[in-house]
Amino acid sequence: MSPREWTPVCRACGARNPGTWSRCPGCGGVQVLEGPRTVPTPSGAGGLWRFRDALPPVRHEITMGEGGTPLVRCERLAARTEVAQVLVKNETVNPTLSFKDRAMALGVSLARDADTPGVVAASTGNTAVSAAAYAARAGLPCRLYCAAGAAGSAKLRTAQAYGAGVEPVDGDFSSAHAAAAELEAEGWFPLTTTFRNPYLAEAHRTVALELFEQTGGSVPDWVLVPVGAGPLLVGAYEGFRALADAGRIPRVPRMVAVQVDACAPLVDAWRTNAATVTAANPRPTVAGAIADPLRGYEDEGVLTLEAVRESNGLAVSVPDEAVLAAVDDLARHEGLLVEPAGAAPLAALAALAADGTVAPDARVVLLATGHGAKE
Ligand SMILES: [Zn+2]
Repeated sequence: MSPREWTPVCRACGARNPGTWSRCPGCGGVQVLEGPRTVPTPSGAGGLWRFRDALPPVRHEITMGEGGTPLVRCERLAARTEVAQVLVKNETVNPTLSFKDRAMALGVSLARDADTPGVVAASTGNTAVSAAAYAARAGLPCRLYCAAGAAGSAKLRTAQAYGAGVEPVDGDFSSAHAAAAELEAEGWFPLTTTFRNPYLAEAHRTVALELFEQTGGSVPDWVLVPVGAGPLLVGAYEGFRALADAGRIPRVPRMVAVQVDACAPLVDAWRTNAATVTAANPRPTVAGAIADPLRGYEDEGVLTLEAVRESNGLAVSVPDEAVLAAVDDLARHEGLLVEPAGAAPLAALAALAADGTVAPDARVVLLATGHGAKE
């Protein structure tokens, strides 16, 4: 397979930009990757690269055994929510305790091939930890930009333990984004896990491919995903769509984007059936990992809205109190310690089952994205 078969294409101006790793160099628009999204024959040992046939090819496959996460059947949660089957895809057991490790394994592998001076991300959370660890594994410098107010958080201190440089920037998350972009202009490889780097969401297709294996080739009715910008939802949706296009499953599951009431720009656009996304004015929330106002890259949220619509899914938000109750329920009834953002799908399921949107005979997968130990 030639690397040329995977090409970033600008959604705004239509330009094809091979050899780029970020937004469109011509107009600044968000790019999507065109490529052969096939259903792979899994090969080799564990980790993301079992599915190498389905991923953009790399010369250096960096791995720490990410992916291959358990699918945990939760009978008590099924009984409490009164739906037939609740399965938790437990992404908290990845090497740095979040789903981001899938994207980072692919990202740092591409960065090694690109002969870049280092990797850079704007992040205060799971991305920062994962980028730092995988950069160390790849032997690449890693620089992380964060808003000054977020410096010193537990997750950033963890990233520093892996040797990453943390650079506080005056202002908010958008200011951190701008600082990261300046380093990109010097050739540093972007690992910010919105849709800024069009390659990274491809890694999340492996979530769907694993679910297909783990459910014996069946397909759940609903897949609930905690969403900031939403590359995990889009990646998983693309994985299911490839399986459906190949005739391996009869249909894609209905994808549910779950946000918190305090910051829900995608849900706002969903409710008004808008074609575009407006940046949110966020309030404080316990679910910081998904509290992304999308300011300055509203167009990236549109990719997630489209995947939700194409799957006949939904976008819903839940209050912080329901999120905290879901954290407790996962821990006390199923033994799963999940960070608040990662528990938001259970809160959403409870609401959707109570109002009849999710039927009693439904089979539901919740993506538990990050471990509670890091909070
Ligand atoms: Zn463009």
